[in-house]
Amino acid sequence: MSARERTYRYVGPADLLALVRPERMGAAMRSSAELTAWVEDLPPTELTEPFTFVVTTDGLLRLAARRSEHVVCAGGQLVLAAGEMTFVAEPSSGRWSVVEVTNQSTGYCPDPASWTAVAAALDRAGIEHPGGWTHEVAFRRCEACQERSIVREDDYVCVFCGAQLPRRWNVDPDAAGQLP
Ligand SMILES: [Zn+2]
Repeated sequence: MSARERTYRYVGPADLLALVRPERMGAAMRSSAELTAWVEDLPPTELTEPFTFVVTTDGLLRLAARRSEHVVCAGGQLVLAAGEMTFVAEPSSGRWSVVEVTNQSTGYCPDPASWTAVAAALDRAGIEHPGGWTHEVAFRRCEACQERSIVREDDYVCVFCGAQLPRRWNVDPDAAGQLP
């Protein structure tokens, strides 16, 4: 973990924490071969929708089946990144590579800057990727009403109360000291 990477704490509904179990943690992908083995073990229908991913603080990419909760995939721990990922097999080599990737995780609400941790985890495993988010989400906490929301179309206004939202990531107020 480099000094430039920040960690994200789970900020979603507390009842989901009850689902966290060590054995439900996402599968770690240390190599392209591990990804191939994991993917080929899944029913083919699973591949048509994005997977849940997190990057844990050990720098490893962890994957879970579609619609899994990020906090369960992360074993309830802090993450360097979270979101959804879609893979496709290269016709020539049969190797799986990332075609779509987004930081969409309402459980962790990570800043797009978390891409560096995603790229590092994929590069480390030798998995090809698009070089950046294919869909990027800006999460903010409203400092007036405290609701968390997604900024739509660059409109930094709270959908709940109409207050102005800050330009900088602020979802976890207790993490302010971690900001670069
Ligand atoms: Zn508000």
